Formats: sequence, structure tokens, C-alpha cells
Amino acid sequence: MANVPQGLSQTGDKLLLTPGPLTTSKAVKEAMLHDWGSRDAVFLEANKGVLRRIAEIAERADSHVTVPVQGSGTFAVEAMITSFVPKTGKMLICNNGAYCVRAKRIAEIAGRAVATIDFPEDKPIDPAVLDAALAKDKSITHVFAVQCETTSGVLNPIDALADVTAKHGRRLLIDAMSAFGALTLSKACRYDALAASSNKNLEGVPGLGFVVCDKAALAETKGNATTLVLDLHDQWQGFERTGQWRFTPPIHTIMSLAKALDEHAAEGGVAGRGKRYANNCRVLVEGLRKMGFVTLLPDALQAPIIVTVRMPADNKFVFQSFYDRLKDQGYVIYPGKLTVADSFRIGCIGRIDESQIKGVLAAIAATLAEMGVATGAPAQMQAAE
Ligand SMILES: *Cc1c(COP(=O)(O)O)cnc(C)c1O
Repeated sequence: MANVPQGLSQTGDKLLLTPGPLTTSKAVKEAMLHDWGSRDAVFLEANKGVLRRIAEIAERADSHVTVPVQGSGTFAVEAMITSFVPKTGKMLICNNGAYCVRAKRIAEIAGRAVATIDFPEDKPIDPAVLDAALAKDKSITHVFAVQCETTSGVLNPIDALADVTAKHGRRLLIDAMSAFGALTLSKACRYDALAASSNKNLEGVPGLGFVVCDKAALAETKGNATTLVLDLHDQWQGFERTGQWRFTPPIHTIMSLAKALDEHAAEGGVAGRGKRYANNCRVLVEGLRKMGFVTLLPDALQAPIIVTVRMPADNKFVFQSFYDRLKDQGYVIYPGKLTVADSFRIGCIGRIDESQIKGVLAAIAATLAEMGVATGAPAQMQAAE
């Protein structure tokens, strides 16, 4: 990526420093320059390889199977919840952000009983609270947790939550959307299902959601689904029987994801990708702090995925203008969606590296100077956490 001009992708597009969709490589986009039928042997072979490699990235190729769904990540989360939680089940959501709230809506619309344990957006889920909740309510069958809550960028202790869930004999469902492909879970971490998508850390284009399913647990889900299109059991059975999708597959997304997975492997898999993102995150946070900005999260809670920055106090700082000026320089950042603090977000993921993070930092410094803003410091500095 050394030759890429700062502020532009390999194809001359603005860089997406967002929670997704993200900047992808030229080769990933070029992999889509053909037409394939849904029964095309080349496509079906690529499809099979993609599903297998996703289970391998999850380090569960023996015990789990990847079941894909057409659509964005939320389609995969909805498929996971409505396929795995039976109509008589009850799901407990470990809630510390907007993606947990979304999961709650999914469960409610599908008529599943649901409960939550609630934490502020800038705090990880406490396994002891989950432990107490499961001890108290024996009717809970499933626990839902988000690995990296992209609302804030906070990393949740999934391994510990999985231990507690297993200890109580309940089942775990994970939304690993913004973690999968760059962050690991321990080998011992037990889950029935884990949902993610093509267009986050795997650096593919949008259009494919997938659920990595424990085969034994998936076999028990027949008849649970409340929709035809999001029925993971039926989708899985379809693949087992014919190797084909039940309905029109997002072929171009899958063909380009095959290329994106080659790039993921070439970079050193999860470890390699995680290392680049961690470096992006470190350089970004250090640079922002030098300009007086304050990140929402202390470093120990910050996942190397997306950084939430407190809004500067200087009244010459107008977010929309800041956003537009950065965009003019080739950097697309993202508004915040926190309730705990006024904020904006800058992503560390996608086909970007340190040189481009340095580029956005230089663009931010130039923009602050143009706006006459002396420091990025927010109104009230929180006491050290
Ligand atoms: C991106 C994301 C999703 C899915 O969002 P879509 O817009 O449907 O792709 C779900 N959960 C988390 C934690 C995410 O970061």
C-alpha cells in the first residue's frame, strides 16, 4: 500500500474511516468484473471455499459450519437470533450499546421473550452481573453479547461471558461483526453461533452476512425460524443437499470475498490483520491526544476497530464543517451515536495503514487551524478512570 496517495484508496476513492462499509483493495473490486450464474461451477467452488475459510478463521472448522445469508450484517444477526432461540426460549442481552438495542428489537418483533442487563456505553459487560442474572432467571435459554460494541468501540470480555454462560448450561450467541477477522476468541470459548459480515474486517464489499454455527446446536434448530429467508437450518440443509443457495446469491460479493480472504491469509490471517489495525489505532489515538482530543475509552477498553472522540469544547468547532472539510481532503469519518457523551468516531479498519492514519491526522490538524480551533479538548475532562 506504500504507493497509495494519502486520502485516497487504491482506486482513487475517498478513504472510509467508518464502522463499515470500508475501503477495499482494487483487487477485491476487480474480482467482481464478470457475470456468473447461480449454478456456475466456478462460483459454487468459490462459495464453498469462502464458507470453509470463514469457519477456519473462527478456528472452529471441525465443530462449526458457516451458514450465509443474503444481506448486511443485521440480516445475519436476525437470522441467528430467530433461528437459534426457539419460540419458547428467552434471550438475555448483555447490553452496552446500539447493536444490543437492535438485537432486542429483533427478538421482540419475532415474539421471543427477552431480558437485558444494562451497562453504560463506555463500560464493558461485567461477567459477575451476567452470572447473577442467570442464577436468578432459570427461564433464560440464550445469552446474546457483542464482541466489539461499535457504538463506542468498547471490547467486551466474550471469553469470560462464555464461561459464565456455559457454567449455567445456557447457550451463547455472539455478534462479532466488527471483531471477526481481526480479533480472536479463545479456543475454549463455547458458543452456539457467531454472526459477522463480508464488509468489515474481512475487507470485502457489502452484501453477505454469515453465521458460524455449532453443528450439533444448529441441528436442533429445525422449525424455530419465523421467516423463510432467514431460516439458517433450512439454508444449511439446502447446502448439504445441493451445494447451492436456496435463493439468488450475492454472487459478486462472494467472488470478491474470496479474493479478500486471499488477502487476509496473505497478511497473516487474524493475527496479521489484528496487528495492522492495532497499529492504526495506536497511531490514531496518540496523534489525536497530541492535538488535545480526548478519547471516550481508556486504552485498556479500546478495541482496535473504531475510536470514539469526545466533541471539542471550542465553539469555533462545528462538527458538520469539520466533517465536510475532512471529506474534501479524502477522509470520511463518522458521527457518534452515544447517549453518554457528544462525540464523533474514526475507524481504524479496512484497507488502510499507518501512512493513511498519519494522513488523516495531518488533515485534522490543518482543519483545526483553518477553523481557528486551538485544541481538541472537550468541555469537562473526566477524572482518570
Ligand atoms: C456493523 C455492525 C452490525 C451490522 O450492521 P449492518 O449495517 O447491518 O451491516 C451489527 N453489529 C455490530 C456490532 C456492527 O458493528
